Amino acid sequence: MTVKHALDQLNFDNSFIRELPADTEPQNFRRQVLGACYSKVLPTLVSQPTLVAYSREVAELLDLTDEACTGDEFADIFTGNRLAQGMDSYASCYGGHQFGNWAGQLGDGRAINLGEVLNRRGERWTLQLKGAGPTPYSRTADGLAVLRSSVREFLCSEAMFHLGVPTTRALSLVLTGDTVIRDMFYDGNPQAEPGAVVCRVAPSFTRFGSFQIFAARGEIDVLKQLADYTIRTDFPHLGEPSPAVYLKWYEEICRRTAEMILHWQRVGFVHGVMNTDNMSILGLTIDYGPYGWLENYDLNWTPNTTDAGERRYRYGNQPSIAFWNLGQLANAIFPLLDSEDITPLQTALNSYKQCFAEGWQAMMAGKLGLQAFNPATDHDLCTELLTLLQSIETDMTIFFRRLAWLSRHDLEANDAQLLSPLLEAYYLPEHITPDYQARMGSWLRAYLKRVHSEGVPDDTRRQRMDAVNPKYVLRNYLAQLAIDQAEQGDFSKVTELLELLRHPYDEQPDKEDKAAKRPDWARQRAGCSMLSCSS
Ligand code: AMP
Ligand code: MG
Repeated sequence: MTVKHALDQLNFDNSFIRELPADTEPQNFRRQVLGACYSKVLPTLVSQPTLVAYSREVAELLDLTDEACTGDEFADIFTGNRLAQGMDSYASCYGGHQFGNWAGQLGDGRAINLGEVLNRRGERWTLQLKGAGPTPYSRTADGLAVLRSSVREFLCSEAMFHLGVPTTRALSLVLTGDTVIRDMFYDGNPQAEPGAVVCRVAPSFTRFGSFQIFAARGEIDVLKQLADYTIRTDFPHLGEPSPAVYLKWYEEICRRTAEMILHWQRVGFVHGVMNTDNMSILGLTIDYGPYGWLENYDLNWTPNTTDAGERRYRYGNQPSIAFWNLGQLANAIFPLLDSEDITPLQTALNSYKQCFAEGWQAMMAGKLGLQAFNPATDHDLCTELLTLLQSIETDMTIFFRRLAWLSRHDLEANDAQLLSPLLEAYYLPEHITPDYQARMGSWLRAYLKRVHSEGVPDDTRRQRMDAVNPKYVLRNYLAQLAIDQAEQGDFSKVTELLELLRHPYDEQPDKEDKAAKRPDWARQRAGCSMLSCSS
């Protein structure tokens, strides 16, 4: 008798393909797919699947044991070499605005969904392979992904989760054994790179662009089917779909999106490609491409070299881009409201601004360790701090972490003494001029007075601050060092970072080096401060 592999015992319930309209063309070739939410497609076979890493926590979500995740079967299934029992693979159709322009059909060009697992707790998790070969939506590209971008997606998904940021998850990272040709700098120097597949996991991978495509094509019946399916599956608390419920749904998307962006701003995450096809309908961070982490606090920074000119997706612009994207989603669902009156959608859209503004105050109060944001004093306090942080290269993560070290008894200290715990945060100590020191000194004194006024013990404030200001983030150069080694066949740094980033808010005394600011060599190195979309 053969014993069924654990992966063949997963409980699949593939509602997306069961309930939504399918493409009728069975062949896998690139095309416009009309009147359908998805196309059935098989992953491409790969030559030698080798597991690089997997996430224990995501395995647990799927009720998978460590044993199930380490065998050959696992690597085979999560590169797409074999479909486990109950898997029924497909690519979904969506469109989107890219860099502000309508791009038409995009779709899962290199993502292949395997189906939806219902776990023991009754949760629904869609599994999706990224880099598993071409689909009808691949346009001119190959459907594949390289190791470097897969390491980045795998690690960042999990790092974000542990930071408390809403995100899609990553179960596994597997080498395919095949090479992929990429011109990393778009300069006519294509190279063969190792190929890899990440298995992403989320309740749903539906995007703003999933609705936009049907609105743009005038396929309002499909639009309605997808909206109704999404509400029933992922927003069941809103009740049965109706024009009033569509509106409530949209409001909730606005709120969730605001919350997601607030988290990005809190931890210094820059997505890099906030096109509407990269905006999750669930308010999850999705599609980790040329993202990056703020090192020195700079509102104008973007990691994406493709966006270096306009800097549309720079750190400081993320909140307003989310608003713009939500506006596009409003346009897309407008036909469902059965009314010519755009006011209710407009009002809902504007609620994003309100949500964001309130959330921003709460977020800043949290970062500063204040019990509550007091607009009378704290607006000025924050404005001056953010001006100072931008005035000379200051590491955001280290600054906020070290700010917690100050004591309200330090009020008598002079400027240099006040500043000393923060010195580690500065990239160029020679930029700390007497003027700067005086200005930062008076800010620190104003801050400590404000803290003193709340009468909260230093320890309590420090704990609060350390719970929202991470010690460890996936610094761009750390990811690159792990990639450099992984490309040589040594995956230990990937595993080490995965482990480290499970506890981003904890002091990890033996990992102090991973909290260090970007070393000088990484300032201009590709992959560290600059990334292209080539992945
Ligand atoms: P992105 O902005 O990177 O999320 O991708 C935009 C669109 O291009 C999506 O429809 C992707 O599926 C598609 N795409 C990106 N890279 C590839 C690739 N290597 N092969 C096929 N499609 C791709
Ligand atoms: Mg995308």
